[in-house]
Amino acid sequence: MIHRFDFLVLGSGIAGLSYALKVALNGTVAIITKKEKAESNTNYAQGGVAAVMSSMDSYDMHIDDTLSTGAGLCHRDSVETMVKEGPARLRELMDLGVAFTRKQGELDLGREGGHSVNRIVHAKDLTGREIERALLARIAEHPNIQVFENHVAIDLITEHHVVGERVIDRTNIHCWGAYVLDEIRNRVDKFIARVVLVATGGLGHAYLHTTNPLIATGDGVAMSYRAGATIANMEFIQFHPTTLYDSGSPSFLISEAVRGFGAVLKTVDGEEFMQRYDKRESLAPRDIVARAIDTELKKRGDDCVLLDLLHLSAVSVKEHFPHIYNTALTKFKLDITKEPIPVVPAAHYSCGGVVTDIDGRSSIHGLYACGEVSMTGVHGANRLASNSLLEALVFSDRAAKHSAAFFGKHSNERIPEIKDWDESGTFNSEEWVLISHNRKEIQQIMWDYVGIVRSDLRLERAYRRMVLIQNEVETFYKKTKVTEGLIELRNLALCATLIIRCAMKRKESRGLHFTTDYLERDNAHFLSDTLVD
Ligand SMILES: Cc1cc2nc3c(=O)[nH]c(=O)nc-3n(C[C@H](O)[C@H](O)[C@H](O)COP(=O)(O)OP(=O)(O)OC[C@H]3O[C@@H](n4cnc5c(N)ncnc54)[C@H](O)[C@@H]3O)c2cc1C
Repeated sequence: MIHRFDFLVLGSGIAGLSYALKVALNGTVAIITKKEKAESNTNYAQGGVAAVMSSMDSYDMHIDDTLSTGAGLCHRDSVETMVKEGPARLRELMDLGVAFTRKQGELDLGREGGHSVNRIVHAKDLTGREIERALLARIAEHPNIQVFENHVAIDLITEHHVVGERVIDRTNIHCWGAYVLDEIRNRVDKFIARVVLVATGGLGHAYLHTTNPLIATGDGVAMSYRAGATIANMEFIQFHPTTLYDSGSPSFLISEAVRGFGAVLKTVDGEEFMQRYDKRESLAPRDIVARAIDTELKKRGDDCVLLDLLHLSAVSVKEHFPHIYNTALTKFKLDITKEPIPVVPAAHYSCGGVVTDIDGRSSIHGLYACGEVSMTGVHGANRLASNSLLEALVFSDRAAKHSAAFFGKHSNERIPEIKDWDESGTFNSEEWVLISHNRKEIQQIMWDYVGIVRSDLRLERAYRRMVLIQNEVETFYKKTKVTEGLIELRNLALCATLIIRCAMKRKESRGLHFTTDYLERDNAHFLSDTLVD
């Protein structure tokens, strides 16, 4: 079946929804989303959105904190844009009905690692859920927007899919939509649109332990790469230092804001250790804390460290972190006001992705990317806490403005005839075990060899294995009817390979990429993005 819209949005997190609401003023919009519409990384964001909202703060301070965390690789123009446009975007969210936490009428600004002042706007510790709720309510009442739940985008439609033979110029590719698996009707549809936004979020499930929900399998990066878009900086994977130990997968995140509130990291014997790694101690940026925990665990052979809140007022802990308090109590039988929390790091955020300019444009005509799937240059080699929701808000707004103009200019041009999805020669595979085994293998390899601490030997070993897996998966994909599991496996294998390729190119330690073979930063050779195309 063919669906025709003016704008096609892949993903219903903060980036996709914010963009859709804006471009809907200019035409019809389809939002494609893998599961139920609220299911997204956004929905699980606890800490909040960083923005300059108080007289104690300044743009320069937020810019400096972002640049300093980004370890030399942030694009200054993107950072300045994000920081300066951020407050207006937050006010828009409030106008849409997002209820941020207030104290005596003023926004209650929290503090997180790497920030020099309190600047985290939040809705208790359920900020993302509150943002999703408000955006989805507005989407539901918009006559120009249609949401397709349980629809999985498989591949972007480009010159590669036009009926008839043609020579493809990889420097001049256009995107006109996507092939999408309708999971309810079990068929692949064509969604044709003049403008396409990829807003599919992150790829935490490339790793064994992750804070991300199951939707985060790198689909947008993989689709864009296959279509010919430029991808960059995939080596910079942020590991959240504190997820509740033994919680299964996805791991339950203990927000950075808990350390900002005064919680202290200790070994299982109760000894504080962060002073050995950074003068900011438990408030050091995530990469430093994650590496410190990893080092302590390897040195001592322990399974976890402890996050201690016992010196803090139980009433305030419950008041500030009701979601964490209740989940720990009900799901893990742990009263965090009476016992320290056992924590370990887990894969959390991808700083790299589809390269875009300051208006969210990818290297493909008509294809925009926003949110975690994109590489706008604001995070550099490491993301400052709570800058990702802000990035998604600011750049989805810019992308919406730019793509509305693009649409105005090109809406009368003919979109060529696109081939139907071809599944001739494929069969229904009963071999679920192949998919689940390969998926676990990818996650284990990435965890063991491409995790918090890397080396040439580990990366080479991971690369050899991943190339084999990727070839095996591609062969299986070509002869099997598509399912969500197979689509995700194919994308995870590709993203894992891209992460390893980028990591192998960077022969230095910088930000989130730490290798025992090159312990120092090497500005003479590596003060630039790692591009893969
Ligand atoms: C536990 C947790 C806590 C966090 N806390 C914070 C925080 O406090 N502050 C902060 O700034 N950041 C935080 N982050 C990071 C932040 O939440 C994400 O980076 C951000 O929400 C990403 O938004 P997004 O719109 O790009 O993607 P997402 O919100 O992940 O949305 C992606 C969407 O794409 C859909 N999708 C994916 N693949 C496909 C496909 N093939 N076809 C169709 N649909 C698809 C998904 O179903 C989903 O709807 C946190 C992340 C996690 C996991």
